[in-house]
Amino acid sequence: MKPIFHPYFVNKVDGDPVLYIDFLFDRRAILFDLGQLSTLSPKKLLRITDIFISHTHMDHFFGFDHLLRIMLGRQRHIRLYGPVGILENVAGKLQGYTWNLVGNYEHNLLFEVTEVHDDHLLKATFSCREGFQLMHPPQMIPAGNFLLDELAFQVSSVCLDHFIPCLAFCLQEKNHLNVNKVKLQEMGLAVGPWLRELKEAIRAGKPDDTLITIPSGSSDPDREKKVPLSRLRPLVDISRGQKIVYVVDCAYTESNREKILALAEEGDYFFCEAAFLEKDRERAAQRSHLTAYQAGLLARQARVRKLIPFHFSPRYYGSYHLLVDEANRTFRGAC
Ligand SMILES: [Zn+2]
Repeated sequence: MKPIFHPYFVNKVDGDPVLYIDFLFDRRAILFDLGQLSTLSPKKLLRITDIFISHTHMDHFFGFDHLLRIMLGRQRHIRLYGPVGILENVAGKLQGYTWNLVGNYEHNLLFEVTEVHDDHLLKATFSCREGFQLMHPPQMIPAGNFLLDELAFQVSSVCLDHFIPCLAFCLQEKNHLNVNKVKLQEMGLAVGPWLRELKEAIRAGKPDDTLITIPSGSSDPDREKKVPLSRLRPLVDISRGQKIVYVVDCAYTESNREKILALAEEGDYFFCEAAFLEKDRERAAQRSHLTAYQAGLLARQARVRKLIPFHFSPRYYGSYHLLVDEANRTFRGAC
């Protein structure tokens, strides 16, 4: 199966956390955390639609200015999600500049910011044409199960204790739809953008008599076909969707453990901070971070498929392999 999400870290393991998740077939990406972004090309930055920020310690939020610089003057609607205080933090960043010349820009840049509280969300929009001033008070909406819920995927969060609220995120593909190329050939059909329409109709639960337009092929240029969904369903194999979990900056408390295990259960990729070695667990606790051993244990108990430890403390520079080894050996049950 071809996964639709392609996650990778923008910076090195001891650099600012930024997980870039590229979408297959879409010119689209989402980010988990917003640290230093300077190594990302403008082309990649311009694909970003949604940014999930764990907390606003500087290494997780420093990239906001870079993103703003690239997006300014373009027609863009960027959604940001973050913990309590994110509205004030974004407003503070935006108010650090002078905006007297942007009122009549041809294209408008909007930041829609969602602040995640335990039982509700606060949502506000900052518009370039308004000089990024908050024109309306934040709107309060009840918290649902998901921060983002689209046809193909959902993003949820839990709030962890890092001496301050810190969000961990889960990106879950609802179902994985894969076009069976052999069956496609057997039916004499060519690949093309129409397959996207087919997948969307299946995802949306459209009825069997829904007509899907298959464009004319080179062999029959005048014959655009309209085929009922029922005949095309066998072309698409449906399997379990991809699940990506991102956990960074939190204490190893019972409450955090429970929330992480529930969020990460049977995830495909578990990106988990492993800031310290277990021998330095007291230091980790003092700074409200996880050790590599704790990351490995969480991964094992959550039965994830792959653990990717990251966010290593620079004190281990030159020995990061020790953190990776400790996390992975614990994950595999070797210690
Ligand atoms: Zn932090």
